[in-house]
Amino acid sequence: MTTEPTAAAATATVYGYPRQGPNRELKQAVEGYWKGRVSADALHATGAELRRGTWRQLAEAGIDEVPTGDFSFYDHVLDATVMLGAIPGRHRAALEADPLDGYFAMARGTQDVAPLEMTKWFDTNYHYLVPELGPDTVFTADSGKQVGELREALALGLTPRPVLVGPVTYLLLAKPAPGVAPGFDPLTLLDRLLPVYAEILADLRAAGAAWVQLDEPALVQDRTPAELGAAARAYQGLGALTDRPKLLAASYFGRLGEALPVLAKAPIDGLALDFTATGSLEELARVGGLPGKRLVAGVVDGRNVWVNDLARSLTTLGTLLGLADRVDVAASCSLLHVPLDTAAERDIDPQILRWLAFARQKTAEIATLAKGLTRGTDAIAAELAANRADLASRTRSPMTHDPDVRARAAAVTDTDTRRSQPYAERAAAQHALLGLPLLPTTTIGSFPQTGELRTARAGLRAGRIDVAGYEERIRAEIQEVISFQEKAGLDVLVHGEPERNDMVQYFAERLTGYLATQHGWVQSYGTRCVRPPILAGDISRPGPMTVRWTTYAQSLTGRPVKGMLTGPVTMLAWSFVRDDQPLAETARQVALALRDEVNDLEAAGSSVIQVDEPALRETLPLRAADRAQYLAWATEAFRLSTGGVRPDTQIHTHMCYAEFGDIVRAIDDLDADVISLEAARSHMQVARELAAHGYPREAGPGVYDIHSPRVPDVAEVADLLRTGLRAIPAERLWVNPDCGLKTRGWPETRASLESLVAAARVVRGEV
Ligand code: GLN
Ligand code: ZN
Repeated sequence: MTTEPTAAAATATVYGYPRQGPNRELKQAVEGYWKGRVSADALHATGAELRRGTWRQLAEAGIDEVPTGDFSFYDHVLDATVMLGAIPGRHRAALEADPLDGYFAMARGTQDVAPLEMTKWFDTNYHYLVPELGPDTVFTADSGKQVGELREALALGLTPRPVLVGPVTYLLLAKPAPGVAPGFDPLTLLDRLLPVYAEILADLRAAGAAWVQLDEPALVQDRTPAELGAAARAYQGLGALTDRPKLLAASYFGRLGEALPVLAKAPIDGLALDFTATGSLEELARVGGLPGKRLVAGVVDGRNVWVNDLARSLTTLGTLLGLADRVDVAASCSLLHVPLDTAAERDIDPQILRWLAFARQKTAEIATLAKGLTRGTDAIAAELAANRADLASRTRSPMTHDPDVRARAAAVTDTDTRRSQPYAERAAAQHALLGLPLLPTTTIGSFPQTGELRTARAGLRAGRIDVAGYEERIRAEIQEVISFQEKAGLDVLVHGEPERNDMVQYFAERLTGYLATQHGWVQSYGTRCVRPPILAGDISRPGPMTVRWTTYAQSLTGRPVKGMLTGPVTMLAWSFVRDDQPLAETARQVALALRDEVNDLEAAGSSVIQVDEPALRETLPLRAADRAQYLAWATEAFRLSTGGVRPDTQIHTHMCYAEFGDIVRAIDDLDADVISLEAARSHMQVARELAAHGYPREAGPGVYDIHSPRVPDVAEVADLLRTGLRAIPAERLWVNPDCGLKTRGWPETRASLESLVAAARVVRGEV
């Protein structure tokens, strides 16, 4: 296949880049500043140096137009809040006294003021700070950061394109400020907000920006006619401005759907669309393309780690040439969501490493595609040949095609995904076997991960202690955790998870087909970075992963010890997933591996086994139309992992969020026997929701918030229990904290669990 060169040269560009630096320099500098070890000047200098490094790297890789303003000390939505002057009243004084400290106070709170709420950025694992708006919000333009970073890039002789959160997405991401009536719709502020954007756009133009990008990912979600109307008004208004740069409205994380004609008709100069999403190409053709506009084509997956199929992307780009005035090449979204550079990985087989593309490799792919689009495929013949070889090596690898795993997954029947008896019969058998009191007490799994434990783990990795020494340390910890729980009077014990670095990584390291990275850090929020493992091949379990520790814990006590596993959906959600097969297929393979572990735990004597699925809800597709299919395979994977046990083995699951009215049906479809959920901060709202939906199983809405070191007193926990009892009958109510205790210290953990047990005893006496 040879593509004809376009009339104009295709530009290579990206919307954003990882911010932390090759060695997480930004994290060090910001945390150093918080601790008083790094001055404000030094922090600003580190930021400037990292930005320069990024831009140089992008330019050297062949990126013609570089993003500016995407850099952030904490979060780009918080930066937008500052840019728009939408500062909550409680933070205003601090921000005026010191912009940097005020900024971090909004992000993290102080002794006296609460931070902004944090929540997930669409369906990624990045978290942003939620703007708080009300009818009294006054917006004022502060373009300082945007203009400053634009000037830095111009000074390097580059062609920068400032990237801003768009006005519609900004308002759609906001929530009513505390004290504002919950019915308040931030979108009603649009007319007040647009003049402020106009001012900022004028400032950017004056400072030398030819183009400005306005990010509108919120428009790839289901939107009401009123919301689409607001988008139309916004881009009519901004487009009609006279003193403005050219405007590129960027969408990502999916296709625009009904919002596409709205933006296509707006008097703006370009659109960025996500062509890794199914349906994008078709719907663009349906609206007649973008005559007279620039189309930035996101053809390289910006949120996964696989090499691009360059030939396929060129075909897509070739089709797009007929649909717009000018076609440029980009990743589907900011590269913020992938690690920086595969070259840093030393432990991954070099052949397999060639299947992977992190941010740096993706910029090279984008540049190659732009070159191919401009000059024809002959100009990139060598890159295409190498790419074909890498793709073929991935397709043919035994790692991606394990016949045993495939045969077993193909043979799964509906019966495998069903317990042998219905819930009501199982519950009776479990109660007879376990003989627990009413309102049984338990915890969610982890106990404090002390500095000592982390030191021991680091020591093992560095070879300072041997495996025997490390395991001795773990056994000692388990002894302590068990003996504390017995003394405290808990009914169903846990071993405390001291051997786990992370609830996904621990299992990923023990399953064949998973890759771990050494330096694959991705920003989760603020300075917190995670290294998601990579689901690269067919998944199998070479041997038991947790049985040893659970049986050791069980050997120390006569009370039941809960086995503790991470569920298949969460194993996918917090990893990079395969893009060469449906997610449902990968989920099924992981579920089968977990099923073996569940069955092994049962065979080793566990009568209670918990399979955590905290990510079940956060993986919900952005569009309602896609949800039923997702929930079908997700709940099936959970049932497949837990369906092989005897009726009298009690399966627990755990989820940590307080809002889930929309998935109660799916939670019921998991067919677990007991579920624990976060509830303390919402005063047992969860219990009322379960009841309202007629949820028939046992449930443990959390009775204290583990996110703070505060110790609840007995009366307070007892009160929450009484509230819970109004929704869930005593025969089905469990008593547990909101979530795992690994981030807590021992003193508050002890005291809090003692309150919990005492409160359960008080309330047992009342029912
Ligand atoms: N069992 C895990 C723990 O206790 C659950 C963590 C979670 O829900 N995120 O840490
Ligand atoms: Zn949790």
